[in-house]
Amino acid sequence: MPSRKPLIAGNWKMHKTGTEAALAARQLTALTADAGDDVEVMIAPTFTALSQVKAELAGSTIELGAQNLHWEEKGAFTGEIAADMLIDAGCTYVIIGHSERRQFFGETDQTVNKRTRAAVNAGLRPVLCIGESEVERDAGQTFSVLDKQLQNGLESFVLQDLQRLVIAYEPVWAIGTGKTATSEQAQQVHAHLRKQLASLWDDEFAQQLRILYGGSVKPSNVAELMAMPDVDGALVGGASLDPETFSQLVHYKK
Ligand code: PEP
Repeated sequence: MPSRKPLIAGNWKMHKTGTEAALAARQLTALTADAGDDVEVMIAPTFTALSQVKAELAGSTIELGAQNLHWEEKGAFTGEIAADMLIDAGCTYVIIGHSERRQFFGETDQTVNKRTRAAVNAGLRPVLCIGESEVERDAGQTFSVLDKQLQNGLESFVLQDLQRLVIAYEPVWAIGTGKTATSEQAQQVHAHLRKQLASLWDDEFAQQLRILYGGSVKPSNVAELMAMPDVDGALVGGASLDPETFSQLVHYKK
């Protein structure tokens, strides 16, 4: 059996100032100190909070992530941020292609592809988000939509590029809505994605790759989702903002 270390990741979106984020990180560090080695934790605050949060994470195993990056190394790209800036701030992960970026900021599979390339080239761990809308699910297009996002987002990548990749399946209809995919729905999609990844690259790679579920994960549903054989973690928005609640997710086995 491949060992896929579960990853519980918090996406803090556009919440918390640097001071607030640092306080939350400090509390989270204390609350998860006993979580042990068999679960990995990552938090992704806003860009301005990264360095302050990193300072709070010293001595803890919690990883720092960013919520986006630009594909160029530097230049006249007002409002953007480059991979080496994230690394300098202490990031090891970067979330790419979140549905809110796709929906509100013109993110496409093509820009997702370029951002993922930049992350890989810089040695960051991309958390590539894909997900279908409610209309697409109702029209029976879930798998075809996801396959296209996966294929286009990772077009021209070879196996060697993908060693640090994490995929997050986030059905758009479940993000911030309180509606969660059932554990069976999540498992069905994750198993499908793993099969696709095996056919696009190879089975060994697909078996090692972590596929997170995201969409209204909370303490009351995390254990059931995590019990699914192909669910390797969670990408959490709302329930990651409160350290006590997020810590309950990290301790999903208890
Ligand atoms: C997310 O934004 O990635 C997310 C899953 O949000 P929420 O947990 O609030 O649904």
